[in-house]
Amino acid sequence: MSVSWYPQHWELDVDNPRYGELVLRAVHEDQNEWEATFPGPQIGALLEAVTELALGLEPAPGRVGAESLPPMLTAAAARTLLPALQRAVVLAAAGTDIFQRTFPDPDEPPAKPFCHRCGTGSAIGGVATISPACDDAGHHAYGTRPEASWEHVHELHTQQRQRWDRERETARFDAELRALLDNAGETDR
Ligand SMILES: [Zn+2]
Repeated sequence: MSVSWYPQHWELDVDNPRYGELVLRAVHEDQNEWEATFPGPQIGALLEAVTELALGLEPAPGRVGAESLPPMLTAAAARTLLPALQRAVVLAAAGTDIFQRTFPDPDEPPAKPFCHRCGTGSAIGGVATISPACDDAGHHAYGTRPEASWEHVHELHTQQRQRWDRERETARFDAELRALLDNAGETDR
């Protein structure tokens, strides 16, 4: 699942999550367009350079490899870019399953447990593989304590899902009630 972010005057694309590739594009109308693809270690170097710029520091020259940073990447631009860049880095490096469980979308139900060793529980087809460690000790879910059992994690997920459903239901009920009260108020006038 490819994802793009659009901080003001910039675009970040991760076309193939977990392939270790990230595209940064400047979309300033008044300046020349600029675009670069950052593979593997250059993703880490880019994140460090943009973080340093955002903090008002000078990134070491040549750190971002062959593609030097464009002149429009100022300290202010780095501060605009940084939140989306952090997410793009996790998606590019660790893939959709880890990304969704690291930056969960509050509008989506809690993601199912995902075994980081063999890929069981992945929302994407064809990810699961065979892991001798999982055969011996059972799956281990990403984002849980080392001793948490796969069964326990599923019980917790069921509870979280039920809580999420209840909260959605309450929010929907509140919105309907507010709409009814608003309408009643208008009829009174
Ligand atoms: Zn597993």
